[in-house]
Amino acid sequence: MTGIDHRLALERLLASDHAAPNPIDDVEALLKAHHPDYREGSLVSLAVGANRGSECPTALAARLQSNARIEDADLAGAPVVDTEVLIIGGGGAGCAAALTAAEAGGRVILATKLRIGDSNTVMAEGGIQAAVGEDDSIQRHFEDTLRAGHGCADRRLVACLASSAPDSIRWLIDRGMRFDLAEGGAIGGKLLRKKPGGATRARILSFKDYTGLEMMRVLREAVELDERIRLWNRCPLVELLSDEAGHCVGAVLYDLALHSFVLVRASRVILATGGVGRLHLNDFPTSNHYGATADGLVLAYRIGAALRELDSFQYHPTGVAWPSFRLGGLISEAARSAGAHLLNGLGERFVDELAARDVVSAAILRECAEGRGIEREGMVGVFLDIPELERRQPGTLAQRLVSLGHLARQCGIDPSREPMMVRPTLHYQNGGVVIDENGTTSVPGLYCTGELSGGIHGRNRMMGNALQEIITFGRRAGLHAARSASRHPAPKVGLFHLHGWRRQLVAAGMPLDRFGPDLFPSYANFDFGHELALRGGKRTMYAPRARGVE
Ligand SMILES: Cc1cc2nc3c(=O)[nH]c(=O)nc-3n(C[C@H](O)[C@H](O)[C@H](O)COP(=O)(O)OP(=O)(O)OC[C@H]3O[C@@H](n4cnc5c(N)ncnc54)[C@H](O)[C@@H]3O)c2cc1C
Repeated sequence: MTGIDHRLALERLLASDHAAPNPIDDVEALLKAHHPDYREGSLVSLAVGANRGSECPTALAARLQSNARIEDADLAGAPVVDTEVLIIGGGGAGCAAALTAAEAGGRVILATKLRIGDSNTVMAEGGIQAAVGEDDSIQRHFEDTLRAGHGCADRRLVACLASSAPDSIRWLIDRGMRFDLAEGGAIGGKLLRKKPGGATRARILSFKDYTGLEMMRVLREAVELDERIRLWNRCPLVELLSDEAGHCVGAVLYDLALHSFVLVRASRVILATGGVGRLHLNDFPTSNHYGATADGLVLAYRIGAALRELDSFQYHPTGVAWPSFRLGGLISEAARSAGAHLLNGLGERFVDELAARDVVSAAILRECAEGRGIEREGMVGVFLDIPELERRQPGTLAQRLVSLGHLARQCGIDPSREPMMVRPTLHYQNGGVVIDENGTTSVPGLYCTGELSGGIHGRNRMMGNALQEIITFGRRAGLHAARSASRHPAPKVGLFHLHGWRRQLVAAGMPLDRFGPDLFPSYANFDFGHELALRGGKRTMYAPRARGVE
C-alpha cells in the first residue's frame, strides 16, 4: 500500500480549510468494502463445539479448536484448594466481581496471569458512560447502545447496563475514584460530560485521559486491602475443571513462580480474562496488553459454553501508524471527542470524526487503500490534527489529553506542533461468551464477565460502554455467584469435558498437537519457563504456604 509523501501531505495540511466532510451515502457499502470484519477469506467455519458452523477469524478458530495443554496425569499429586467463588482475571471486571462476592459473604480467590491490574482496564483512557445529565436518560443510553451495535445486542443486557450505570458510578466514587468536574465545579458539583461517538447526548465521564488507570487504582487497593479475598498473582488459568455432568467445578492454575499446578475446587467460577487483541486478527497491530490472548474464550468454549458475534471485532480508528515501534498504540477517542479532525494526504476531512467507530475505521482504511493516505517510512495512515485543535482550543492538550502527550513524545513528536499519523488498531472483541444479566453461561457453575462476554455491544461497541460493562456486570456476577455458591465442593472433579472434546477434534479431523490457551503472545519473550514446564519438563513440588494455603 502506498500513499502521499509525508512532507507533501504536511504542506497540504497547513493549507487546508478543514471544511466539514461530505456525509457517507451508503454506510453498509463502506463497511463491507473496507472494514476488516468483511475481509474476503478471513473467516472460517468452526468444526467443533457449541458454535459448530459459525464463522470466526482464522487465528481465533485455531485457538478455539485447540487441544488442552494438560492430561489427567498432570493433576496427580497437585495440591487442591477449596473455595466458594474462584475469579480468574485481575482487571476491572474480575476485581468488581471479587469485591462484590466478598461483600456478599463468599470465600473468594482471585487469580490472575500477571499481577493484579496488568490488564486492558488500566489502559483505558477516554472514559465511562452513564446517563447522569439532566438532558439525558437511561432510555437514550439504551437506544444509543442498541443503534451503535447495529441492533444486534441483547436488549435485556443493554437495559441492565443503562439502568445500572449511574449506580456503578456511585459505587466507584464511594471507593475513592475521582472524576473530572464540569467547568468551575466545586467538590460535590456536577461531573464533566463528553459526547462519545454515535451518541445523542454527552454521557462520557472521565478522569483526565487516564480513566482506566484511576479506576484500577481504587479497585486494586480495595482488593488488596480486603482480607476476605485471597489474591494469587502470576497464576494463569490453564484449564477448567468439570464433573461427570459437565458442570464447571473449579480450575487448574499454573503457578509461574513455583512452576507447579494447583487445583482449585470452586462451587462457582467467574472468568474475567478480557479480550483477544494479542491474536492480531487479520494481521492488525493492537492496542491491547500482553495478557489479551483469548484464554477465557478458549477455555469456556472447550467446556461447552456458547459464544456469539464471533466474527465482529472493533478496530479502533486511531492507533499509532508511525513510528513502527509504537504501531497500534492507542490514541483515545477523547481527542476526537475534544474536537480533533482527521485529514487525508490531500488535506481533506473525509468522515465525521464522531461517527460510530466501525464507520470511522472503515473510512480511514478506504483513504489508505485508495491512495489518499499519508506515507512515512513505509507506514501508511491519516493525520490526527492535534496542533489545529490546540490553536482553536488552547490548553486542551495539557488539560484533557495528558496520555496522548506522553504517547506522542514516545513517538518523537511534539503534539502541539506536529500531527500524529493514525490508522485502525485491533482493540476490542464485540462478541464473546453468551451470558444472562447475572453473568451465568450455558455451562452450570461457569460465569463470564467483562470483555470476554458477549451480547452487550452487538456488532459495534460505543466508547465508554466497556468500562461501564465491567463494573455493572462484574458486580452482578460476583453477587449472584456468592449467593448461589455451595459451601461444599463437588465430590468428583476432573477433566471430564476433555474426553468428549478430544473425540470431537478427532472426528472433525482437527490437529491434536495445537495446544491452547496461548497465555502469552509468542513474541513476548517472558522468561517464565512455562512452555517447557507445561509440557512436563520442569515441575517442582508445590509449596502451598507460599500462596497462603494450609
Ligand atoms: C488502550 C485501551 C483503551 C481503552 N479505553 C477505553 C475507554 O476509554 N472506555 C471504555 O469503556 N473502554 C475502553 N477500553 C476497553 C476496556 O478498557 C476493556 O474492554 C475493559 O477494561 C476490559 O476489562 P476486563 O476486566 O474484562 O479485562 P482486562 O482489564 O483486560 O483484564 C483481564 C485480566 O485477566 C487476566 N488474564 C487473562 N488470561 C488469563 C489467564 N489465563 N489466567 C489468569 N488471568 C488471565 C489478564 O492478565 C488481565 O489481568 C480500552 C481498551 C484499551 C486496550
